[in-house]
Formats: sequence, C-alpha cells, structure tokens
Amino acid sequence: MKDIFGWELDKLVEDVKELGMPAFRAKQIFQWIYQKNIFAFDGMRNLSKTDIEKLKANFSILPQDLIVLKVLQSQDRITRKFLLQLKDGAAVETVLMHHDYGYSICVSSQVGCDMHCAFCASGLNGCQRSLTKAEILAQVYLCNSILSAENQRISRIVVMGSGEPMLNFDNVFAALEFLHDEKTANMSYRNMTVSTCGVIVGIERMENLGHPINLAISLHAVRDELRTKLMPINKANPFVKVIVAAEKYAKKTGRDVTYEYIMLRGCNDSTEDAQLLANFLKFKHASVNLIPANSVLEHGLQKSDEKTIDRFLQVLNRNHINATVRKEMGGDIAAACGQLRNQFAKERT
Ligand code: SAH
Repeated sequence: MKDIFGWELDKLVEDVKELGMPAFRAKQIFQWIYQKNIFAFDGMRNLSKTDIEKLKANFSILPQDLIVLKVLQSQDRITRKFLLQLKDGAAVETVLMHHDYGYSICVSSQVGCDMHCAFCASGLNGCQRSLTKAEILAQVYLCNSILSAENQRISRIVVMGSGEPMLNFDNVFAALEFLHDEKTANMSYRNMTVSTCGVIVGIERMENLGHPINLAISLHAVRDELRTKLMPINKANPFVKVIVAAEKYAKKTGRDVTYEYIMLRGCNDSTEDAQLLANFLKFKHASVNLIPANSVLEHGLQKSDEKTIDRFLQVLNRNHINATVRKEMGGDIAAACGQLRNQFAKERT
C-alpha cells in the first residue's frame, strides 16, 4: 500500500498509469484531495467503481489515517487545538485560529524538539523525529476539511508549532511550495511564515530559495549570556549574526522580519533590555512581537506583568520600532508550543 498524499502530480500520473488508468485520473484525484479535501476514494464521485476499488487496494491518503486524539476549543472561541496521532503512534499539535481576516494554522515541523529552550514545553523530551512533507501538509488539509463544512478555508500558515523548521528544511519548504501551487491550495508565499530559533544556515538557504515567505526569529534576549542560557542555540549561532542574516533576507525578499520576544518576569523584561533590543533593530526591516510567556511549570519561569510589558513596548515605540503585544489566545487549552502534547504524555503514563 502506497500513501500518495503529498506526491507531486507527475508522480501520481506515473503510478496511476501503472494501475492501467489514464493520466487524467491522476488529475481528478489531485483535485479531489487538494481542492475539495476529499481523502477517501469512495467520495471521488467522477471515478468508476472499478477504478475506485483498484485505487483503494493500492493507495492510501494520509489525512484519513490520522487519529484525532484530542480537540480543544478555547473559551475565546478563536482558537482550536488538535492533537494528532501519526501512523507510527507519535503525536503532534496543530492550532487553528480564527482572525478577522480569516483562518490561520500553526503547524508542527518535528515530533518534539532538540533546541532545549529554557521556557519551551516542546523540548522537554527532545526531538523524536522530523515530520515528513506529507505529515506537515496533512495538518493543513485536515483542518481545511473541517473548515470546508463551514465554507471556510485556511488563508495563512505559520510554521511555529513544535520543532525547529530549519532542522527539517527540505520537508518544511517542500510542503510550503506544494501549498503554493495553484493546482493545490494556491496559497500566497506572503501568507506563510517560518519561525526559527536562529539557525543561520537555514536562513541563508531560505534566502536562496527566493520565495517571499515571512521570516520570524525567536529572539527572546539581547544579552549574550542570558540568551545562551535561555536558548542554547545562541552558542553556535550568536544572535548578532542571526540578525545580520535576517536583515539580508529582508532586503532580498522585501519582507520585514518579525522578532519574537517572550516576556519573562525579572529575566529579560527590564527597560535596559528594551533599549538594547531597540538599538539592535534600529533602521532594520524589523518588527517586534512581544509574547506574554505561557508558563511551563516544569521550567518555573513566569510571564511579566502587564505594566512591565507596556513599559517595554513604549521604549520600543519611542525608538521607532514597530512593536505589538501578542494577544493571548488559547491559554486555557495549553495552546503554547508543546504544552498539550506534554500534558497528554503525562496522562498516558
Ligand atoms: N523552533 C521555532 C518554532 C517553534 S517555537 C522557533 O524557535 O521559532 C514557536 C514560538 O513559540 C517561538 O517563538 C517560541 O519561542 C515560542 N514559545 C515557546 N515556549 C513558549 C512559552 N512557554 N510561552 C510563549 N511562547 C513560547
């Protein structure tokens, strides 16, 4: 049994021909899956019964084989979180958010994470494995099929779930290129964002691809020692060099870089830190997203209070840095990176 989900059309044509069917069958199947979100051959109404039986005997389509372990709807009515079980039993999280412009999805790129950031729940148990291109796409298509019942579809995708996308570069970007194709989801690169903890070679490779995909950098600290403590990646990829690479990316693609900055009480939230941050980003193609930290009990870190966040924001604004505070969404459903998966793992044991 071959899983055809995520195959390019050319490849599907070859395999459909091998089953003795004409090439246009592949086109029909392609439309059913990627434009109409139908993942069962039985539902592909313009195929003959014999072909459907042949296809069922030979091919599977991944979203059908995913098990939805949990669906959590936040009280804010805006955020829905899914815990999905993959074929090998591994579980990943996907978050679906409703904004005034439409729906956005936050996908995971790996099962767990090896970056070991001090505030993050994803890295508590390391990285089990990277997701395949099909598994990344399946998160999007599963949500699209849910939304299609409401006559809606996903318009934005952020690769900001569990995992470090730059360490699964080929699959992440192959998935995004697939979604960009007009024969599939026809999504604009400008509506896609990849978030990294600062893997410089990844940023450079992304620049070489040349797509106007948005780049987000998880910065979180602008003092070298502190950043290394919070994010060990800073040792091999010091943040000053990350900012240089990101600025190059911004100039090449014309897309401003978003710097994410988690506000951690008494740790990185002083006015001095705000001023330092402003100095680093002044005159850059950059904006800042301040994130009130979701506490991860295992780590004992807490979010800054509102007043401190506000003061921090004002320093940035005074320095003409475009900055916003991220709305806290889905806090009640453990929507932050890796939190739900961890809860689930704990419940299991
Ligand atoms: N590895 C990538 C993408 C996954 S993390 C990256 O580092 O960007 C996605 C975002 O969630 C990052 O900005 C990360 O720093 C943030 N995050 C992780 N733990 C968090 C927490 N406890 N509270 C708020 N944001 C968190």
